[in-house]
Amino acid sequence: SMEVVLVGRSNVGKSTLMRQLTGHTFDTGRNPGVTRRPNHYDWASEDFVITDLPGFGFMSGVPEETREQIKTDVVRYLEAHAEKILVGVLVLDGKAAVDIIDRHLEREELPHDVEFFSLLEELGIQPVVAVNKIDKVEDRDQRLDEIADRLGMMPPWTQWQDVIAPISAKQGRIQALQDAVNAQFEAAKQEELK
Ligand code: GDP
Repeated sequence: SMEVVLVGRSNVGKSTLMRQLTGHTFDTGRNPGVTRRPNHYDWASEDFVITDLPGFGFMSGVPEETREQIKTDVVRYLEAHAEKILVGVLVLDGKAAVDIIDRHLEREELPHDVEFFSLLEELGIQPVVAVNKIDKVEDRDQRLDEIADRLGMMPPWTQWQDVIAPISAKQGRIQALQDAVNAQFEAAKQEELK
């Protein structure tokens, strides 16, 4: 079956989201950098496999070298499996993402989230951005517009609901993500029929 991958910085809530999507329990929080290998699971309600890839970026207590290696491994996995991967879910912390991106841009560094969004596109993997922890965000439309903008999508974000999915994994509010991923699957099916 088709594969969906989950990528994102450490601590954005990937394990919490995986638990919601698959019904499995994952080790959350405690040991950053612990999910080193790709984990494959069935998406509970759908006919596809979901692969959780290790979180990258800053993790307290994890040396720079290890973090770089984790990131390299994630990139290699995506490159090696691009053909079979239909959707790449980039999970963001909706509360923190814009500040982190802007801080990197100010230093003229390529932010991880921007880098991975572009990488998915370059590899022909349809990105879907799961903007997690939306329960902590007050000015949601404004924040989602900023995220769209930073990733190269013209605001308003509401034009991009098949790509941008505000969710709260913790509260189990993930319907927007299910809808976006399903919309991308439907679009791919239509494309095949042409
Ligand atoms: P991971 O490192 O990406 O796997 O992140 P975790 O799933 O371990 O979550 C990191 C922290 O964020 C934990 O304290 C979670 O309880 C919290 N978290 C995850 N999802 C949400 C969410 O939707 N809202 C809020 N407020 N917190 C969340």
